[in-house]
Amino acid sequence: MLAAVGGWLRDRAGLLRKLQWAVVLVYAFLLIVPACLELPEDSARMWNNLTIFAQFVFWGIWWPFVLLSMVLFGRLWCGVLCPEGALSEWAARKGLGRPIPRWMRWGGWPFVAFVLTTVYGQLVSVYQYPKAALLVLGGSTVAAVAVGFVYTRGKRAWCRHLCPVNGVFGLLSKLAPMHYRVDEAAWKQSQQKRERVAAVDCAPLQPLRHMQGGSGCHMCGRCSDHRGAIELSLRSPSDEVVRVAEREADGWQTALIVYGLLGVAMGAFHWTMSPWFVSLKQTAAEWLVDKDIMWPLDTGAPWWLLTHYPQHNDVFSWLDGAALITYVATTALALGSGILACLALAVCAAGRWQTRRLHHLAQALIPLAGCGVFLGLSALTVTLLKAEGVPMQWANHARLLLLAGANLWSLHLARGIMRHWGGSAARYLALLPMLAALALVDCAWGFMFWWW
Ligand code: SF4
Repeated sequence: MLAAVGGWLRDRAGLLRKLQWAVVLVYAFLLIVPACLELPEDSARMWNNLTIFAQFVFWGIWWPFVLLSMVLFGRLWCGVLCPEGALSEWAARKGLGRPIPRWMRWGGWPFVAFVLTTVYGQLVSVYQYPKAALLVLGGSTVAAVAVGFVYTRGKRAWCRHLCPVNGVFGLLSKLAPMHYRVDEAAWKQSQQKRERVAAVDCAPLQPLRHMQGGSGCHMCGRCSDHRGAIELSLRSPSDEVVRVAEREADGWQTALIVYGLLGVAMGAFHWTMSPWFVSLKQTAAEWLVDKDIMWPLDTGAPWWLLTHYPQHNDVFSWLDGAALITYVATTALALGSGILACLALAVCAAGRWQTRRLHHLAQALIPLAGCGVFLGLSALTVTLLKAEGVPMQWANHARLLLLAGANLWSLHLARGIMRHWGGSAARYLALLPMLAALALVDCAWGFMFWWW
């Protein structure tokens, strides 16, 4: 069945392209038109105001459910529906066709791009204001087209190296129960027959013959049945994390999981609810007033640098911006370092210290990290639905269930990784520091949804 789906995708390139252009049009409409309209009144609702409707579509549905789709279907979204990927590939067909430069191949981009976009998005209130959304999402799209136009001939250099969510999507898709499986023996056989086979136009430039996991694959289906060796197949959702990640996990992926998804993203979701943020700001403001340093309290920064909507009584001072960055950075450092220490302890307890094992074990946290981003983004979905009068009392129970499931999944992966490492049964003692890492993350969510 699945192999047939892969073949269907491969044979419907024209239809998929039309679908991509349709998504591009909807995306452009929802991004550009609200930014040209007046901001909605407090009484405006989703069903009578395009700005609120677009806000709900982008942040309430689009983003959380695209994340969920990664876990269910791998990066099908990237290959079939993503407007940015489609535009970048289209531009690359028309463009200069230069080779991908060395700086773009730097492995730290997924982490750096994610952190910068997340923090900047908070500074300009990207979830709340359409101009900010146009700047952040539209800016990313313009960059994707520019990179596509300059580099490669018809490939997706942007998606593979620079897209701010490439790293996150790559991590989440490791949990998908399906991937394009490569049968290396069948590939070799086909080569020995000296058959002439057309090359596959793999837009994200995957090393097809040796492709083991699905984290870089956009699931577009173009390589389906290539040399009779590639097939869309089911797999265990643990397989890539337990088996493949042993070789492929690296320090940047660990940084993205521990300091990015479980650190910076957590701080970005936290600060609006946090009483600690309020006291940080108050203490700093009192100190500044005492010292007669008044310029940080000025609220004259432009909207594209710091939130500035006086008509809605929503303006950030320089102090607000600095406090936000300090709060997010402190959360990321404290939480990330605590989790990293637990992981290091677990690696030592499981046998001997190896940095490679630390990166491997960090991958067990992907379910909890992904669940966290889903919960954080869907908090806005819940708020918007509440404003529409939809009863949402069940939301906290659902959050608890999701968190419990993600914890169990992460623990299951950690156990699988330790079993894969081999050694005596005593290595499972390492699950104790792993539990401590999970508890740290759970506490952070506990504050956000239950205790504050
Ligand atoms: S490996 Fe490349 S061509 Fe094959 S499905 Fe993935 S993205 Fe498409």
